[in-house]
Amino acid sequence: MSSRPIYLDSHATTPVDERVVAAMLPYFTEHFGNPSSINHLYGWEAEAAVKQTREILAAAINATPEEIVFTSGATEANNLAIKGVAEAYFQKGQHIITVATEHSAVLDPCKYLKTLGFEITILPVQKDGLLDLTELEKAFRPETILVSVMAANNEIGVLQPLAEIGAMCRERNVLFHTDAAQAIGKIPLDVQAMKIDLMSLTAHKVYGPKGIGALYVRRRNPRVQLAPQQHGGGHERGMRSGTLYTPQIVGFGKAVEIALEEQATESQRLTQLRQRLWEKISQLEGIHLNGHPTQRLSGNLSISIEGVDGSALLLGLQPVMAVSSGSACSSVTTAPSHVLMALGHSEQQAYASIRFGIGRFNTIEEIDKVAEHTISTIQSLRKQALTV
Ligand SMILES: *Cc1c(COP(=O)(O)O)cnc(C)c1O
Repeated sequence: MSSRPIYLDSHATTPVDERVVAAMLPYFTEHFGNPSSINHLYGWEAEAAVKQTREILAAAINATPEEIVFTSGATEANNLAIKGVAEAYFQKGQHIITVATEHSAVLDPCKYLKTLGFEITILPVQKDGLLDLTELEKAFRPETILVSVMAANNEIGVLQPLAEIGAMCRERNVLFHTDAAQAIGKIPLDVQAMKIDLMSLTAHKVYGPKGIGALYVRRRNPRVQLAPQQHGGGHERGMRSGTLYTPQIVGFGKAVEIALEEQATESQRLTQLRQRLWEKISQLEGIHLNGHPTQRLSGNLSISIEGVDGSALLLGLQPVMAVSSGSACSSVTTAPSHVLMALGHSEQQAYASIRFGIGRFNTIEEIDKVAEHTISTIQSLRKQALTV
């Protein structure tokens, strides 16, 4: 086991925390009831567990439990938010604003809506990955119904100015959706202060299980209308039918509870590890930080490396560490990352990029080993490039 590479890909997914697994286990066997069964104890137990997670999630983002709609993850939550709003509000307007660095689970539903006749504005970002608010200001039209801007970027970790964006949307009576898949449990989120109307969440980026997420849907000031994208038994106030997956929901709640308890100290620890890794690697020439230096997730370090071939670099790193490169995060394509391209990188620069996603179980010893191996791999690739 000790020869397994060091896991540094926390933006792709995280291991389930043992405390989360322990909380989930009884709900597979003993407390297996259907939370919709209102006639007996089995159903009540499951319903109580689901209710508890609703409360934890609502408290985490300053919402109410009734505003939480469980989904299979952030992909489904994004689809439900964007397509659900488009379908419910199309008579008011058919214009949606989003950003070039969004996850494909936001960009692709928007592209789909375009084929149905909606108009989509995809805003560029600045060199540091931040949205330029004057660009947003100019993009609003009388027929704009929705703005979708992510909380934290999954490749470069950049944190967008949610409160400012929320205020601009509210002033114009435009709904504001944010994909907070990378943000929940990592940075403070407040749907009231930030004037957020819809927020996508997922458990598996925060040491919870895969296959469970949620959409926050505002019920007051304004009450958001949403056309369901999956019809059936009318679960989740009719917005998302399907029997609730109690063990996953319990795990989601436990994961967020732990993350919130540890948020302040963990964020400090991760920042220190990231700084340590950056200080070591950036002693080499030709290493560039991708994304804003401070307005970013504490566990994220994304760098571009001059004078190396991206795939050779990844091959060299793989035996020691599990990291992601600058090619598109879906493994089926090898296009350069659209996020790095949006920062103004060339294809070659985008490919020669590495994303380190430092997480809860990484140690300082691991970071030192990773730094050392990354440096020696870059040095030897550069030496080879000189001799051919
Ligand atoms: C991981 C991720 C998603 C997809 O979430 P799933 O729960 O895996 O569907 C969406 N958006 C962002 C920003 C992500 O990091």
